[in-house]
Amino acid sequence: MTHNPTLQKEAQTMLPQNVLEYGREDNAIRETAAYAARRAEEIGAENVFNFSIGNPNVPAPAIVTESLMHIIQTVPPEVLHAYTPAPGMAQVRRAVADDLNRRFGTDYTANDLYLTAGASAALSIACRATLVAGDEVIIFAPYFPEYAVFAEVCGARSVILKCREEDFQIDLAAFEQAVTKKTKLVIVNSPSNPSGSIFSGETIDAMADILRKKEAEFGHAIYILADEPYRELVYDDDVTVPFIPNHYADTIYCYSYSKTLSLPGERMGYLLVPPKAADSRALYAAICGASRVIGNVNNPSLFQYLLQECVGATADLTVYKTNRDLLCAALTEYGFKMAKPDGAFYLFVKTPEPDDLAFCARARQYELMLVPGSAFGYPGYVRISYCVDTDTIRRSLPAFRALAEAYRSAEGTL
Ligand code: PLP
Repeated sequence: MTHNPTLQKEAQTMLPQNVLEYGREDNAIRETAAYAARRAEEIGAENVFNFSIGNPNVPAPAIVTESLMHIIQTVPPEVLHAYTPAPGMAQVRRAVADDLNRRFGTDYTANDLYLTAGASAALSIACRATLVAGDEVIIFAPYFPEYAVFAEVCGARSVILKCREEDFQIDLAAFEQAVTKKTKLVIVNSPSNPSGSIFSGETIDAMADILRKKEAEFGHAIYILADEPYRELVYDDDVTVPFIPNHYADTIYCYSYSKTLSLPGERMGYLLVPPKAADSRALYAAICGASRVIGNVNNPSLFQYLLQECVGATADLTVYKTNRDLLCAALTEYGFKMAKPDGAFYLFVKTPEPDDLAFCARARQYELMLVPGSAFGYPGYVRISYCVDTDTIRRSLPAFRALAEAYRSAEGTL
């Protein structure tokens, strides 16, 4: 690191500009969380309503602690802490495959799975394994902001398609129009962060029909990149999350245990390349290559052992339904407009003024820490992460009511 300003400037221009920008870019979610932390120091955590970040608040299930203790006590250290095969230990991948096969009637094997550091690494690796400069990636807005980063660093172009405002479902006619000869990936996140919407089996079938037609027309595979860290966070009995590989063969599937097991810091997830996907063995080899390129040697071995013990378990996720119902009912009563989410742990609420950044600034006056929809490619909305304890939600309601009142009396917009 040089302290000479001229040399520093030169060094900056030598750095890849896109990567430099990604490092400098203000991430609205983390900025809001950092502001919430500062306010908590100033006025006390109990007076700040931090709805900024998707950090699960329920504890990991007891089996996690029990298994960790058991593993540490029983697996010899020279085995426990050794390098593992890059895709993960075969017996762990087999346990994941068995779990998928039990739930979805499939016949996957360990060879179809690659363990990754959460869904983020899975998505990034899948992009690197498939994309070349000039490719297009279809992303539905509102979206998880990292998608564009993972795709664009490979030289691909993000094609953003807005979901319908009334229910955050896909506009299939617009989707059909958007698929071109250059389309290589379509990223599908259901249940969605930030809208909480789930795409039905009929919607996925309709997308699959369109994609199969386009594949035949263009003569190459178009993969759905399914991103499902919220698969188990679904609150009503009549709602199911379709397992996309069973609807569309050319699917690359990304999963994470961050939300299901409440272990986001431990970076547990995987990529599945179903054998029926086009060029599946070459695709799997490309995934091994992409992982190697970014220096992934293997997922932490302790947490691979843990995964083997915990596969299929979940944290107690019931509090999220309580939170969703409480917040939806109260905010609707105060005059806010939203589509009731079916899953994940976010509410995506229409802002009473078009400028969502101004709305978030105003909400901060009531110590409500919310993330503007612009951060998810969907201005005019705000995301409220309700993965907090129910008491925080109850105590925040007067602030939401006062915020609504402020808009009603000042602008008549609510
Ligand atoms: N995809 C979506 C839609 C998310 O919301 C998140 C995290 O919040 C991720 C992927 C990445 O999750 P992780 O890397 O913790 O598995």
